[in-house]
Amino acid sequence: MSIILTLNAGSSSLKYSVYRDVSPDPVELISGQVENLGPAARQIIKHHGQNNGQKEIIEIGAADHNLAVKAILRSLAPMLNNETVTGVGHRVVHGGVEFDKPCLLNDEIMERLRALIPLAPLHQPHNLACARAAIDTFPDAIQVACFDTAFHRGHPWVNDTFALPKRFYEQGVRRYGFHGLSYDYISATIAEQHPDFADAKVVVAHLGNGASMCALNNGKSIGSSMGFSALDGLPMGTRCGQLDPGVLLYLMDQGHSSEQISRILYKESGLKGLSGITSDMRELLASDDENAKRAIDYYVFRIRREVGAMAAILGGIDALIFCGGIGENSPEIRARILDRLGFLGFELDVDANLNGARDISVGKTEALVIPTDEERVIARAVKSMSHAE
Ligand code: ADP
Repeated sequence: MSIILTLNAGSSSLKYSVYRDVSPDPVELISGQVENLGPAARQIIKHHGQNNGQKEIIEIGAADHNLAVKAILRSLAPMLNNETVTGVGHRVVHGGVEFDKPCLLNDEIMERLRALIPLAPLHQPHNLACARAAIDTFPDAIQVACFDTAFHRGHPWVNDTFALPKRFYEQGVRRYGFHGLSYDYISATIAEQHPDFADAKVVVAHLGNGASMCALNNGKSIGSSMGFSALDGLPMGTRCGQLDPGVLLYLMDQGHSSEQISRILYKESGLKGLSGITSDMRELLASDDENAKRAIDYYVFRIRREVGAMAAILGGIDALIFCGGIGENSPEIRARILDRLGFLGFELDVDANLNGARDISVGKTEALVIPTDEERVIARAVKSMSHAE
């Protein structure tokens, strides 16, 4: 039996999943995370399948991405019973204009992806460091890059451009959109489990620490709330969402450097910045603090506004799908979003929403909760490429 490994590298963490390559769909055996990359990294391993739910924590000492991949391999080896890792799939945040589907990694592709670092300076270098480490660690396995931007590459021009001088568009200053692996999963799930919606107008709200919305027409993305970077659109845990670019000019005139502005926009804004308390929605919902309530008010308001915008670009809406940590787990936030959307045909099924049901609307427009699974999209891509070899 062969094993597929998926890797998802952030700046200070590395998430992975281990799948057995079986048909029709890979089966997840283990998932894990190396946290606190740096001097005191530790690995958390979660078993699925036979030992479902069992958790282990392993201190691995100082580790960068390279050492973390090796530590993962060391800890996995005894569990894999001599099964071979034949394919490794990587989440790569940016595929630029050219990459509209997963591709096999080789030195030439790595070089082309390195050239995209200026488009995603905070994420792309970590993705590529991790890919390099995996190539060294698993020299006989195929390595597949799966892009967060690829699912959105078919956007019509009006949804791909900014109204800047057109030379910037040619230079790659475009609305790329992100969370593409999540939307890919949701689109495939709709096709499989809700064939009645396969050619429908569907809006997907991915509400996690990062948050965005996608307009699906016949299962294809025609619009994303995220744009050039993963900052635009909805407010997020610590990111600002939509912002008047005049604010940036003002901050620059006030003497803020690009590093300072970057920190404000990526790390200090969103729910955390508005509440002054935390980026964690669970804590905000449990808090009596007026600023926590206002942060949630803004969050819900902007999501509702974006549902309206997505319905407008689709020319209607047949279904709204919630996913991501907040979308999947918070009945209160879902209820508040749907509360003022009756004009689009939504009517909340209160009990279904509270009881964790998938279908939570009794109105003529569907509202569904579908847990997303980005790792599975990567594993499927590796599987299809290894079988095409
Ligand atoms: P990431 O984008 O890092 O993968 P997740 O999709 O795990 O993040 O989402 C994390 C967010 O989900 C956090 O704000 C967390 O508070 C929120 N969340 C998780 N469970 C619940 C819950 N039961 N109620 C409300 N929010 C929740």
